[in-house]
Amino acid sequence: MLIIGSHVSFSSNNQLLGSVKEALSYGANTFMIYTGAPQNTLRSPINEELTKEAIELMKESGILMDLIICHAPYIVNLANHVGSDKHEFSVQFLTEEVRRCSLLGIKYLVLHPGSSVNMTKEEGLNNVVSGLNKILDNNYDVMILLESMAGKGNEVGSNLSELKYLYDNVKYQNKLGFCLDTCHLNDSGHDITSFDQYLDLFDQEIGLDKIKCLHVNDSKNEIGDRKDRHDNFGFGTIGFDNLISAVYNEKIKNIPKILETPYIGEDDEDKLRIYPPYKFEIEMIKEKEFDPNLKEKIRNYYRKS
Ligand code: FE
Ligand code: FE
Ligand code: ZN
Repeated sequence: MLIIGSHVSFSSNNQLLGSVKEALSYGANTFMIYTGAPQNTLRSPINEELTKEAIELMKESGILMDLIICHAPYIVNLANHVGSDKHEFSVQFLTEEVRRCSLLGIKYLVLHPGSSVNMTKEEGLNNVVSGLNKILDNNYDVMILLESMAGKGNEVGSNLSELKYLYDNVKYQNKLGFCLDTCHLNDSGHDITSFDQYLDLFDQEIGLDKIKCLHVNDSKNEIGDRKDRHDNFGFGTIGFDNLISAVYNEKIKNIPKILETPYIGEDDEDKLRIYPPYKFEIEMIKEKEFDPNLKEKIRNYYRKS
């Protein structure tokens, strides 16, 4: 069975219950949330009643509860110097975030490894290891998934050797996994036409069973551009057939595939009306046939409703 969903919202009023309803409206059987805005670290307390209702609804509707994903905000950065305010804040925030995941029954927390500003890559990587060792020293059933990055600016974790370095040096390996992102792979110089070989290499270096999530995005950039700009499924430089092969790759059959593609209308000048593409992208992925008129179809659907 294809395990597919998208990024959905988590509002302070409806929390996980709202997220589940949104995922269901897209025909998804999994989803990914941020526990607040992706750009900041303001978080409201988890509401137990809403969580209970969300779990009930997931059980009834066939959402794969054990495979839903949380994503940490972009601005935490464990690569900062150990002891600096930014590093210590990131450790403290992520420690709390793991606890929030546990309260929500979420078992996977995706994290961007970080950015090594004004230091060597190696220093940055060692800072990340040190931070992870503190955060993962807990009794929660929550795994942190390091995301493979595009390599924008000073990002660490944009190649297999850096991801392997982090994995090899972290103390609690049983609580650390990985999340691949097709756009990031492309932008960091990996050709998605050889995704299967990449998986073989990953298996040799770290182990396939450590890949717990795949972000499925097309890219607005050429291979190796190190830019990280997502495009809608089949509309970018990776293309429909290559993305479909990745989504249906047998080696990662049992992990959730999550869309983080842009809303339709985001490229418009006024940006007044933007619509989520996920219901239609999921349908297209299930049908395995590219629809060049998908964006028009989405606009029409939401304009009417
Ligand atoms: Fe991410
Ligand atoms: Fe991603
Ligand atoms: Zn990205």
